[in-house]
Amino acid sequence: MRTFHCTHCHTRLHFENSTCLNCGYAVGFDYRNLDFVTLTPAGTPGSYVNSAGRGGHALQYCSNAEMAACNWVIDPTEHPNGLCRACDLNRHIPDCSNPDHKEAWQRIEAAKKRLIYSILRFGLPLEGETEATGRLTFDFINEATTGHMNGVITLDLREADGVERERRRNLLDEPYRTLLGHLRHESGHFFWQLMIAEGGKLDVFRNVFGDESADYQAALQNHYDQGPPPDWQGSYVSAYASAHPWEDWAETWAHYLHLVSAVDTAMAERMLPTPAPVKRGFFARPRPVDPYRELSFANLQNMWLPLSVGMNSLSRALGHPDFYPFALAQPVGRKLAFIHDTIGAFTRDRSKAKRQRKQQPAVA
Ligand SMILES: [Zn+2]
Ligand SMILES: [Zn+2]
Ligand SMILES: [Zn+2]
Repeated sequence: MRTFHCTHCHTRLHFENSTCLNCGYAVGFDYRNLDFVTLTPAGTPGSYVNSAGRGGHALQYCSNAEMAACNWVIDPTEHPNGLCRACDLNRHIPDCSNPDHKEAWQRIEAAKKRLIYSILRFGLPLEGETEATGRLTFDFINEATTGHMNGVITLDLREADGVERERRRNLLDEPYRTLLGHLRHESGHFFWQLMIAEGGKLDVFRNVFGDESADYQAALQNHYDQGPPPDWQGSYVSAYASAHPWEDWAETWAHYLHLVSAVDTAMAERMLPTPAPVKRGFFARPRPVDPYRELSFANLQNMWLPLSVGMNSLSRALGHPDFYPFALAQPVGRKLAFIHDTIGAFTRDRSKAKRQRKQQPAVA
């Protein structure tokens, strides 16, 4: 994630801030340009203008600001229901008269915002074009089974309880279990339908991940009864990934999103060296690197590997478990590269189609 600053006093802002802790100005995240705006109250209560004076319509906080601690701002003329782009994807929200459920939801929303940020940075859509893909939709339900069906991601509220999540992590012998990891994994099923099934890429997918037409329920049952194959580390990013090609894709997808997000953050925090300038004739220009737009997966991997090793050493130095408790075997690298290429091709095709639509003269 990039770093954000208050435009009034230039103090660093965190992604979750709704007030600048230095100057006290109200701040909010504007998803349209993926950046923060510093806000000055306008005439009517709850209405603001961009304090940098860039004009435009008045802004207001998303109507989930109080209940879900949402700090995203909207132009109400674009969002008549008062919900921001991320909150508008919710279908079932918890009963906030229960303070535990309200707190759980706030933690889930904070993780969900990071997922939506990444999707928007990639330029990926939040809506599919067919009924089977549906629209990315969230149901946050207490005591439900976490999973995905036709674009709807269900998340069990109990996953927001740190003690319960740790109990499940131990029970299932997982090295890593987080809310953001769950959400990234489940979003992978949505994007599989969109980019692979509907994108005509089933054959190439099967070459890399195997035949997904294998009976899914039987495969999961087998995974829970027998456990993963003993040598799963040689081919899969996690034990669960070995259950079925769909789960392999979703687990690898989540890791790809972890990787890009971590490299992006490390670059913003100046923890990675600035790439050498590109020479054109007499001039040398700094090479802008955006991990969300990087063409070469090898470049991303070359930044990620030393970073994850270094971060693991730092974690151990402080007595914490590994920051990134995974080893990426070569076949896993190929799967990550496939996901990288699939996203790149999909977003490039979409922007090309958009440009062509714009160039076409309107027909009366
Ligand atoms: Zn400030
Ligand atoms: Zn919101
Ligand atoms: Zn899954």
